[in-house]
Amino acid sequence: MPSSVKKQKIKAVGLLSGGLDSTLAARLLIEQGIDVYAINFSSPFCTCTPKNAGCASVISAVKNLGDIPLKRVALKDEYLEIVRDPKHGYGSEMNPCLDCRILKIKKAGMYMREIGASFLFTGEVLGQRPMSQHRRSINIIDRESGFKGYILRPLSARHFEPTTPEEKGFVDRNKLLAIMGRSRKTQMSLAAEKGIKDYPCPAGGCLLTDKYFADRLRDYLKYTERPSMKDIPLLKIGRHFRIENGDKIIVARNERECHMLKRLFDKNDHLLDPADFPGPTVVLQGNSVEDAVEKLLHYTKRAVSEEVDIVHSHHGNEKIVKADFTRKKVLEKSCNEIE
Ligand code: SF4
Repeated sequence: MPSSVKKQKIKAVGLLSGGLDSTLAARLLIEQGIDVYAINFSSPFCTCTPKNAGCASVISAVKNLGDIPLKRVALKDEYLEIVRDPKHGYGSEMNPCLDCRILKIKKAGMYMREIGASFLFTGEVLGQRPMSQHRRSINIIDRESGFKGYILRPLSARHFEPTTPEEKGFVDRNKLLAIMGRSRKTQMSLAAEKGIKDYPCPAGGCLLTDKYFADRLRDYLKYTERPSMKDIPLLKIGRHFRIENGDKIIVARNERECHMLKRLFDKNDHLLDPADFPGPTVVLQGNSVEDAVEKLLHYTKRAVSEEVDIVHSHHGNEKIVKADFTRKKVLEKSCNEIE
């Protein structure tokens, strides 16, 4: 690498998931004297992002990399629209991996321009993931993101044609790797060699690949006129039932979920909560209060007195619904549980 180029301190933006591959990719470039800026994307579909806390593995990755700058981007409704109708289709479940990668690369590219960086990089490994990391998929991602030639994949770089940063001498191609396939052995031994520890979410946990969550999401998208990212957290908790008239009933499974339902329910929904007996909190989306009460009673484990009180909240108003514990249980209407 010419010394004049070295002195310029070339900047690059890397997509950092917090997993091992993207951390290693960043490390390889830092070792070449590149000024690495990380960008991390989160959404309610991430399984490793506790609410209000941020992904612990990204924090740990940033530390491993010497406290590099980190930009966090929360994906909003435009992402949900991609999930609803992806141009390139789905992977095994509701995961639109190609479209997802294209969107993230586009956003990373905007950040690259904003900070005057010279190229982008990712921790992608050729052939590692079934949908988005095959050569054809990678070509589509490069082309449709609008950054073809500017996306370096340091872990598999020598399986691809040289990119612009390699051609310009910003990075030394000979020090980049030629990893391919699903085995993570090479990455793990490199991590040990480079002292990289604590990479708790190497597969980049994504609920969109989960069959049970995908079923709920499909149901939500089918019945919701204007889908919104703010509704997604509710899909992650409770038992969900779609009843015959299209209303939805969500029943908490434990105390934690009771609290969460109370926090997450929308003012247009109904909240039903046992007033004088131990039982689950229930959210109703629709108008079938009687069915929701029956579900609440059905999932009340302990026997209670015959007549029970349930607090019914809707649009800021509260009232007591009186129910007959035994009779309601017997008269439960049929409805299907959404796994
Ligand atoms: S698994 Fe999820 S986060 Fe990863 S590329 Fe696919 S859709 Fe995007």
